[in-house]
Amino acid sequence: MDYTLNTRVSEISGIGTHRAAGLAKLGIAVLEDALRHYPRSYEDRRRFINIRDASDGERAAIRGTVLDNPKWSFIRKGMDLVRFNVADDTGTLAVTYFNQQYQVSKFSRGEEYAFYGKVQREGQFISMANPETERVGMIVPVYALTAGITSNLIRGLVDKALAAAVTELAETLPDDVLTAHNLLGLLDSYRAIHFPDALEGDDDTELHRARRRLVFEEFFTLSLALAVKRRRGEAQSAYKITRTVNYEDFYSALPFSPTDAQKRVVEEAERDLISGKVMNRLLQGDVGSGKTLVAAALIWRVCAAGYQAAFMAPTEILAEQHHKTLTRLLAPYGIRIVLLRGSMNAKEKREVRKLIKSGEARLAIGTHALLTANTQFFKLALTIADEQHRFGVAQRIALASKSVERPGTLLMSATPIPRTLAMMMYGDLDVSVLDELPPGRQSVKTYPVTEAYRERVNNFITKTAASGSRVYIICPAIEDNPNFDARSVTTYSEQLRAALPPNIRIASLHGKMKPAEKDEIMSGFADGGIDVLVSTTVVEVGMDVPDATLIVIENAERFGLSQLHQLRGRVGRGARQSYCIPVLGGGGGQDAVERLKAFAATTDGFRIAEADLRMRGPGDFFGNRQHGLPELKISDLQGSMSMMKEAQSAAEHFGVERIEAYPALRQRIERLLRSAE
Ligand code: ADP
Ligand code: MG
Repeated sequence: MDYTLNTRVSEISGIGTHRAAGLAKLGIAVLEDALRHYPRSYEDRRRFINIRDASDGERAAIRGTVLDNPKWSFIRKGMDLVRFNVADDTGTLAVTYFNQQYQVSKFSRGEEYAFYGKVQREGQFISMANPETERVGMIVPVYALTAGITSNLIRGLVDKALAAAVTELAETLPDDVLTAHNLLGLLDSYRAIHFPDALEGDDDTELHRARRRLVFEEFFTLSLALAVKRRRGEAQSAYKITRTVNYEDFYSALPFSPTDAQKRVVEEAERDLISGKVMNRLLQGDVGSGKTLVAAALIWRVCAAGYQAAFMAPTEILAEQHHKTLTRLLAPYGIRIVLLRGSMNAKEKREVRKLIKSGEARLAIGTHALLTANTQFFKLALTIADEQHRFGVAQRIALASKSVERPGTLLMSATPIPRTLAMMMYGDLDVSVLDELPPGRQSVKTYPVTEAYRERVNNFITKTAASGSRVYIICPAIEDNPNFDARSVTTYSEQLRAALPPNIRIASLHGKMKPAEKDEIMSGFADGGIDVLVSTTVVEVGMDVPDATLIVIENAERFGLSQLHQLRGRVGRGARQSYCIPVLGGGGGQDAVERLKAFAATTDGFRIAEADLRMRGPGDFFGNRQHGLPELKISDLQGSMSMMKEAQSAAEHFGVERIEAYPALRQRIERLLRSAE
């Protein structure tokens, strides 16, 4: 039977429903999908070795002549064996196949064959069990797999797909783009990425060129997809909101005056709200820049116009904290606020949802549980997602489609993202930047130390607590774990209790605790009933305890620069001088020292993000957790940053208008947009 690129893999002979299901898990539904299932690595089977030189455990290619006719023997129920000997000029190899009776007829005495497999060697006796005889003497792709699927199966699919591709495959990139950027064609790229004829990293191998082209294409289509999405978003009409409020009324009731940056950003969002188009805005502001106030002003404004707002936080702890803050700021205006807690029982949740649906509740706060289909709003005009980098794009879109008339969305993020990267992750959004910290802040002093300073660190903790300030201590693990050599919250809080004076109140916090327990501890810490909080990174984002002035980060070498920066942002939120002490545990070496030095040297989140990017590549920012576009398969390779820039400007230059003229390109873009829904 002739297969086409659109043939469903379930229709291919030898693939039953079980395997088809496994393939579906890998994202392979039709033959063409196999082409985009790029190899994870390669196995070099080009070099044949002499039997004599084969060493135990080695995976090797061997070529030899079959000495005797293959013998089949029954061993016990469910187990039989095919066995024969192969020789080259240097020795003899015993080949065995288990439960593969058909192998008997594949080999004839006196003929030469190539074998690839794992060598077993006991003294002079050399053997190989279940060796492969196909694709020996070449470079073979190794794929990401799932139960029931072998690399060999996928290789077979790729073969068939490549055969069909010769006549069917349409080039996705326009000719002028290919030429201008010196890119390999799509078919050649597929061939070379699956079956390269050389592996060497030098720049003109086909493999290198194939990768370059495929990475370029991913970024190019993503850029265009975001541009399309942005355009479509703009076309949508929103609620009719007219300028009826004076923000000064809100500001003048605050205990402090907003910064100019806060006012400016509120104005930018206000313009969106009254524009008649749907707001789709990202608010980037470094830790402590006062994003919550911007959110509060906009919620106040939308409620004053008779609409509802929803506010999502990435964790229960944060939702709780925002509930307190926003209640303080907004309740005086008669705005009814509800908090949908994950820990509520079904009846309580129903009650809360009723208030949201009837419109009695004007502001609903929660984690992404707010998004489930069960929550219906009355007149939702504004959704705000705090610490957006913790949400995926899919959730972001779900949030936006919560009501019939699409509400405006404001995404707030403290992860400062270099511009190029932001364009790629949020190219469908308008961006506001909160580039000013509230006045009177002293920047946090950072002193990286090693274990040798333990006693001094402990003294400093004691002194800080005694002065009435609060201390965070961050550990990478919850419990001790033999496979993970790092301090744990459970053990270390015990050790601290023994090491610090008994009047210092120490509590621990981690993500596995019950919500009620976490709440209690967090409020204790905020109110001063707890002096020292030993915690995992659950406090990484958003926590706002202005009396906390010291954060000690254990095993600091385990955290990325941006994450360290987020953690450091937990202190320095009040008027008092604050300190951050990253403690370098074992491991990490000179690299870790350099990184911590760079971290200590600046408190500017953007510069830190750029340093992080330079040191670790975009994979970390671009990991699924942060961008959420599931289709990117190859681009999170190190060093693809410059390619990303190139593809991005190419897409800008190309323009969305031209997409229509390129059906294959259009198809890929549509697919990308659908996959984000
Ligand atoms: P983030 O941007 O990290 O979410 P928050 O909104 O939590 O920052 O604000 C950090 C702290 O700064 C809070 O305690 C908040 O009350 C305070 N704050 C916000 N804006 C101002 C301002 N204009 N002047 C003084 N303090 C402010
Ligand atoms: Mg915040």
